[in-house]
Amino acid sequence: MIVNLISDTVTKPSNKMLEAMLSADVGDDVFKEDPTVNDFEEKVASLFEKEAALFFPSGTMTNQTAIKLHTQPGDQLICDHYSHIFNYEGGGVSFNSGVSCKMIKGNRGRITSSQILESINPPDFYHSPKTSLVCLENTTNKGGGAIYELSEIEKISNLCKKHGLALHLDGARLWNALEVTKDKPSKYGALFDTISLCFSKGLGCPVGSVLVGSNHHINKALRIRKVFGGGMRQAGYLAAAGIFALNNNRDDLKKDHVKAKEIGETLENCSFINSIEPIETNIIIFSLKDFIDEELFINRLKEKNILLISLGKGKLRMVTHRDYDENQHDYLLKTLSKINFNA
Ligand SMILES: *Cc1c(COP(=O)(O)O)cnc(C)c1O
Repeated sequence: MIVNLISDTVTKPSNKMLEAMLSADVGDDVFKEDPTVNDFEEKVASLFEKEAALFFPSGTMTNQTAIKLHTQPGDQLICDHYSHIFNYEGGGVSFNSGVSCKMIKGNRGRITSSQILESINPPDFYHSPKTSLVCLENTTNKGGGAIYELSEIEKISNLCKKHGLALHLDGARLWNALEVTKDKPSKYGALFDTISLCFSKGLGCPVGSVLVGSNHHINKALRIRKVFGGGMRQAGYLAAAGIFALNNNRDDLKKDHVKAKEIGETLENCSFINSIEPIETNIIIFSLKDFIDEELFINRLKEKNILLISLGKGKLRMVTHRDYDENQHDYLLKTLSKINFNA
């Protein structure tokens, strides 16, 4: 048994999901002739009450496409300093769009409308880059699965409208936030110009992300996806996994959240712990007492078939997911309670 908590992307499709994939009706999606992709895109768009949606091979490509369609080279976008688009997309913001990032130090990856207001460059001051886009992330990845207050997003959305800025949501884990807050996806659809969603994380698909937006934005996205090399042919096999996940897997996210909280409770009683960040969804971030070497700790757990990752700067991360079952959970909690380090 390997307990793999390095990410919620490690899940493998279930047999039922594979069956749904195998029986998909497919066509050439580059010609928009794959009925399953078309159906999937319509379903996701209507869930968020957006005009259109577009299927992508990865969340990175979805975000990068959104940034490209909302900006011109030389522009600046505003985001939290923890954001995935800045830290984990290979510098794509500058590579693909020629755009710079104005970084805000938010609260666990979340920024406020007043912080954004202070970061907008005066539009007439042509010496500064033109601010054209704000990107939020919900839940936050590096911020430990933290969820935005909807009221704050409403303020941010109003601010962006007032200043003529586009607003994009990196919603790779928006499904986790929605499970906790019970908000309707359409509430988010109304507040953002575009939202990217991942299906290959908590929802358990092997591949797949979707961008939702207006017809105008998704038409632009279609062209950009082509340029990025993201047009896929009989992608209906993959879209079928997405439809299956929407219909069957969303509710299961609460199990991941319960397990994450239980891991947090166990960690609190462990002598090696320095601090644990609040656990709101399926991500657990913690730090070790000063005298314990991080690599040594990771290796000790690895010897016991438990995998986790370091986020650097003394932070360690575990992520629960649908392939992390009750057995593995019991084993993890017991093992954590037993581990000792000598000062
Ligand atoms: C996983 C993730 C993405 C997409 O990453 P891919 O590796 O391209 O799937 C985007 N944003 C956030 C916050 C993520 O956690």
